[in-house]
Amino acid sequence: MSKPYPRPRNPQVPLPSPNPPPSSPDFPYPGLRRTGDANTPRGRGLVATATFPAGSAIAAFPRPLLCLPDGEHVRTACDWCLRPGAGSSGTDDGGGADLGEVRPRPKLNACTGCRCVVYCSKTCQSAAWKAVHKLECPALRGVKDGVFGATRINGKETEAKGEGKWFVPTAVRCAMQLLLRLKTGDRDVRDAVGDIPFVGTTSGAKGVLEGNVHGFRDYEDGTMWKDLGAQARAALQSSGIELEGDKLAAAAEGVRGLLCRLQTNAFDRRDEDVGAAGVLLDVDLAMANHSCLPNAYVVFAGRTAILRAERDIGVGEEVEISYIDNNLSKAERQKALGLYHFGCQCRRCQEDLDVYQVCQSSSTIPLNILSLQPDLDLYKNPPIERNHYVYDAPRPPIDSPNYDLYHMTVGLKDKKMYAIEPFPSLYHQLVVRYETEELNLAYALAIACFLATQCHPYGHVVPFKPWRVKGLMMIAQLLSHTAPLSATGELGKKCGTTKTSRVLVDELAKMDQVSMCEAILRLVVHYGPMAHSDDWEVLRSARELLEDIAQLQGRERESAAIAAWVRDPEQSDARAFVDEMVLKPINVLASRSMGWVFYEALCGPNSVVPDAPGSSVRRLVCQP
Ligand SMILES: [Zn+2]
Ligand SMILES: [Zn+2]
Ligand SMILES: [Zn+2]
Repeated sequence: MSKPYPRPRNPQVPLPSPNPPPSSPDFPYPGLRRTGDANTPRGRGLVATATFPAGSAIAAFPRPLLCLPDGEHVRTACDWCLRPGAGSSGTDDGGGADLGEVRPRPKLNACTGCRCVVYCSKTCQSAAWKAVHKLECPALRGVKDGVFGATRINGKETEAKGEGKWFVPTAVRCAMQLLLRLKTGDRDVRDAVGDIPFVGTTSGAKGVLEGNVHGFRDYEDGTMWKDLGAQARAALQSSGIELEGDKLAAAAEGVRGLLCRLQTNAFDRRDEDVGAAGVLLDVDLAMANHSCLPNAYVVFAGRTAILRAERDIGVGEEVEISYIDNNLSKAERQKALGLYHFGCQCRRCQEDLDVYQVCQSSSTIPLNILSLQPDLDLYKNPPIERNHYVYDAPRPPIDSPNYDLYHMTVGLKDKKMYAIEPFPSLYHQLVVRYETEELNLAYALAIACFLATQCHPYGHVVPFKPWRVKGLMMIAQLLSHTAPLSATGELGKKCGTTKTSRVLVDELAKMDQVSMCEAILRLVVHYGPMAHSDDWEVLRSARELLEDIAQLQGRERESAAIAAWVRDPEQSDARAFVDEMVLKPINVLASRSMGWVFYEALCGPNSVVPDAPGSSVRRLVCQP
């Protein structure tokens, strides 16, 4: 059982304004209003009518028009709340192993009508039935092998093994749900997507969601437009809407428009800490515009989308989110935004700023006073070498692991620009690989420390960004494994025999890993509610681990110092303790992951590290 954990508040983060102005009945979100229309240059948007300090929740959107697991997760996640069930792998989207595994996963039960979808509880099942599944269930049952040429999941055996292909593409299923509801005259759907010819009664409704249909029609070589057409016909057919000739053509064109609206407005909903992934469409949240320098971001909890302030937002300011990974390069961002059919005019795009330049001008730097990288000067003057001569990096043999990634990252490494993609992604993959495949926990830990101190702070300047908090949790999880192994002297046996491994294991043995773990967990517990919600799985895991640590005897002094540090990161005694016992060791581990680990990870064990630029040795020799 987890008891409530006292949550000290970061003095840097003020509370949201207590009494936001009342909202209008058709837009029930205090502190937000809609602005503009389809004809204004940026279309519609969301504007703050109250102040929202960095770290506060702006609004929750608990009633999406559409929310369902994607095809890949349809057998492993509840079809209503998207909670992953027992036996599903929880970390397929990169959260690192073991994250958020405290709450036991529910057994999922298939709908006995169609045997196509699963639910975590009777409550979810009946909510889903009432909302849409009573219409969808017979339709799914009716869809036989013919439509998509794949197999319908039928007997219990395949179900238990989780085998069999999901037979309806996610986009088609989304359209199906909306069409079936339109057929019954569902006003929410009609108001959102407008009429579809010959589907239900036509009322002249245009729908508030924008579709950018012209953009999709003219997109690239027209393949996507053709695909959308095929999906539209499949959705009509599987919804049991039987039309012919001109009527079918008109309805299919209407559904293609609906699919364009879905593409433009729905979220690819990923719970980064659990294995739930799917689609979420909320008509009100869909009004939020894009910026590569957003002041807000969206997280998901069950069927609820939560809009959170990434930095202080003032009255009258537009609330903007990033539709894409805004840490990608400008070219990659433009490509990703191509699907939304607008040229982004944000400052990051206009001036082509990289993550370090974005970080340098961020107003949120001071929040990092309580973090693993509290030297605020580093954010303003990052330790990179912009004009560093990038020597022609030696190429590892073609069959070495991560050959391409090596080439993509070695230039960045020479300039010490570790926060620029794909470096952080590669390092993240390496943590997962060393933790789960190679079982070299010392390496995984060193790399995780590097990510948390050299990559994440620059790429996500606010210390409560979910990605950063999860980076901390990754370190804490690893320390919770290495600490007991170090204490019994067994860590060495589990970390391979390379020189780097031995050095790391010796160094770890001298560190107070429990204090390091406790301090990091305290950060997670402090920032978790600002990152996501009080109910975040990551937060739950952190609280459980802290309880385990609280059971250890004779650590009163350490625990008190860490607690004091979180309450006031500038209090000198506490700060001195944390500097010496936590931050310094973490930086030592981080520094070990450069050099040897980097080459070993990318070029295989026992690779010879090339000398620095200017040396005559330019060849990277990989021994068998
Ligand atoms: Zn559920
Ligand atoms: Zn069913
Ligand atoms: Zn931009």
